[in-house]
Amino acid sequence: GQCITHCPVGALAARDDTEKVWDAIADKNKVVVAQVAPAVRAAWGEELGIEPKDATVGKILDSLKRMGVDYVFDTTFSADLTIMEEGHEFVQRFTGGELKERPMFTSCCPGWIRFIKTQFPHLVRYLSSAKSPQQMFGAAMKTYFAEKIGVAPENIYTVSVMPCVAKKGEREMELFYGEYAGHDIDAVITTRELAKMIRSAHISPDTLKDIESDRPMQEGTGAGVIFGATGGVMEAALRSAYYIIKGQNPPVDAFTAVRSRGFNENDGVQEANFQINDITIRTAVVSGLSNARALLQKIERGEVHYDFVEVMACPGGCVGGGGQPIHDGEERAFERGKNLYYLDDNAKLRFSHENPDVLTMYEEYFERPMSHKAHMLLHTEHDAEVVNYGKGMC
Ligand code: SF4
Repeated sequence: GQCITHCPVGALAARDDTEKVWDAIADKNKVVVAQVAPAVRAAWGEELGIEPKDATVGKILDSLKRMGVDYVFDTTFSADLTIMEEGHEFVQRFTGGELKERPMFTSCCPGWIRFIKTQFPHLVRYLSSAKSPQQMFGAAMKTYFAEKIGVAPENIYTVSVMPCVAKKGEREMELFYGEYAGHDIDAVITTRELAKMIRSAHISPDTLKDIESDRPMQEGTGAGVIFGATGGVMEAALRSAYYIIKGQNPPVDAFTAVRSRGFNENDGVQEANFQINDITIRTAVVSGLSNARALLQKIERGEVHYDFVEVMACPGGCVGGGGQPIHDGEERAFERGKNLYYLDDNAKLRFSHENPDVLTMYEEYFERPMSHKAHMLLHTEHDAEVVNYGKGMC
């Protein structure tokens, strides 16, 4: 992890939220609903001595159920949902002529959001309005899912397991839904805090079984899994943007040029242009905030021109996040990223727009990407004046 020595979001002062989660589990009035981010599966085994091939997300879900969590989900589902919203937003902004002032920036990394709001506030209007997968899942849990199980949103307690310390600040984003005024997410624990909870519950890692996430938000595609690595959001979004524009799928490896070649290549910036029909989409992917700063300065000086830019605060993306296991003097993000690309290669579904459970949720609830309801629950207004992400941490 980057955190102890270089965490871009100031994780040294991170608070421990495990007690809050134990209290919610003990509260008989609460239905505790958890989600596990893609990058966690690539690293949690390091903390508990489990080999990467055996450290599956299914075993994390089993550990959460054995600790008393009522429903367990994989954030890969809502990464696919994010792509549906952000992919449509990009195509709409790009082809509708609305986005004359390009590029559109991704918005799922709270370390990056805090950085742009404080360092480049005049560029905030270029951010996608899509909430992150963590926040979208929380909103879906307290609305769509709450209705399915017949529980009021105030009695649903949403927990996320994240590779990230800044996600603890992002969770303060508000959710308004009918009578309910609260938060999408109630508690965030990091990968390290998850390991601590497994130990304190005296769960022996070798007794964990590979279980599936709960219905109806069960499926996740390979496109959702690669969100945890730098370039993953861009690649997943382009796979679906191609489909939205052309009405057919691209070859699944059409956009691998956005993947990182390693931290020290090209100042951490991966540039690529893609042709879809008569449209050229100019993309850039960058990780690490000093690399992001250099890239933004070049954009401002007019030296480079892009249509779509992915930024992740942690070098290598979330796999290198501040909440991941730490190994003195050793950076494992790149290796962990390969693990996610392996999972994508072997996934039965590779396109977010083919996630059957996401499509069912649209049919039953959100109607279509960018609908009024989707705007109310799955998007946010970014305001350069308001920086509440990472409050008390950075
Ligand atoms: Fe958190 Fe990922 Fe952003 Fe790092 S790159 S701050 S882990 S969301």
